[in-house]
Amino acid sequence: MTAPILRRLDGLRTRTAAWRRAGETIAVVPTMGALHAGHLSLVEAAKAACDRVIVTIFVNPKQFNNAEDLANYPRTEHEDAAKLAPYGVDAIYVPDPDQIYPDGFASTVAVTGSITDVMEGPFRPGHFEGVATVVAKLFLQTSADKAFFGQKDYQQLMVVTRMARDLDIPIEVVGCPTVREASGLAMSSRNLRLSEAALTQAAALYATMQTAATGAAQGEPWSALEAEARRSLAAAGFGEVEYFDLRCAESLKALDYPDRPARLLAAAWLGDIRLIDNIEVAQVRR
Ligand code: AMP
Repeated sequence: MTAPILRRLDGLRTRTAAWRRAGETIAVVPTMGALHAGHLSLVEAAKAACDRVIVTIFVNPKQFNNAEDLANYPRTEHEDAAKLAPYGVDAIYVPDPDQIYPDGFASTVAVTGSITDVMEGPFRPGHFEGVATVVAKLFLQTSADKAFFGQKDYQQLMVVTRMARDLDIPIEVVGCPTVREASGLAMSSRNLRLSEAALTQAAALYATMQTAATGAAQGEPWSALEAEARRSLAAAGFGEVEYFDLRCAESLKALDYPDRPARLLAAAWLGDIRLIDNIEVAQVRR
C-alpha cells in the first residue's frame, strides 16, 4: 500500500486529529530522504511501537554548513515512497519549504553547552541549531508520541532528546542501533556518492574503530590508541580525521579510559565525502 504524500501542514493535521480522536498513538521518523536500510529499521521500530507512523522527508537547508553538500545531497522522493510501500506507513510528510520556514521565519532552537560544544558542533557551525529547529517543528507539527532516531548520529540523538526534554515537548525520543553494510560501513545517504573503490576503503573506518575500542576495553590509554588509529586511517587513504574520540556515553565528556558507559565517535574525510560513525565501548574497572 502506497502511503499518501502530504506536502501541507493542514493536510497532516487533519489526519493526526482523526487518529487522535480514535485514540491511536502516533510515531514520527524524521529523515532527509534517500532512504536505505538504516532508515527502514527506524520505520520498523516505529511500526512496532505505535498505531500510526509518519515518515518525514525534508532536506533541511538550515542544518547544512556547506553549500556544496546541500546541493549534492541526493533527492530521490519517488524511490523513497516505493521503499516505504511494503511497510504500510500512514503518511509521508514531505513539507513544502514554506511549511517549515514561512516568510519572515525568525526563530531558532539552540541546544547549548557541553553536548554541542564538541565534535560535530565546532566542525559544523550552525548544524545542531538547524537540526534542533527543524526537529522541534516536526515534533510539534506531527504531535507524535514517539520519535525514532538512529544511533548512527549519536550526538544528534542526544541533542534532540535534550531539546524535547527542555522544551516540554510531550514526545519520547527512541534511539535505534546503527545498520551497517556487510563490510561494517555504517549506512548513510552520503555513501551513494562513494565510488566502488572508496566504498571498500571506507570500511577501514569501522575496522579501525573496533581495534581502538578493543584496546580501550583492555585498559590501554586513549591517547596511544587514537594516535595509532589516525595512522591506520591515513594508511587506508583517509584524509583529515576531524575527531576520533573516546567519550562518556551520557555527558560526552572526553575520557582516557572507558571507566563508565563510553562511546567511540569519529569523523573523517574520504576524498570529498565526510564520514561519521560511533560505537559502544565496553566498560573497564579501574
Ligand atoms: P538522515 O536522513 O541522514 O537525516 O537520517 C535520518 C535518521 O536515520 C536519523 O535519525 C539517522 O540517525 C538515522 N540513520 C541514518 N543512517 C542510519 C543507519 N545506518 N542506521 C540507523 N539509523 C540511521
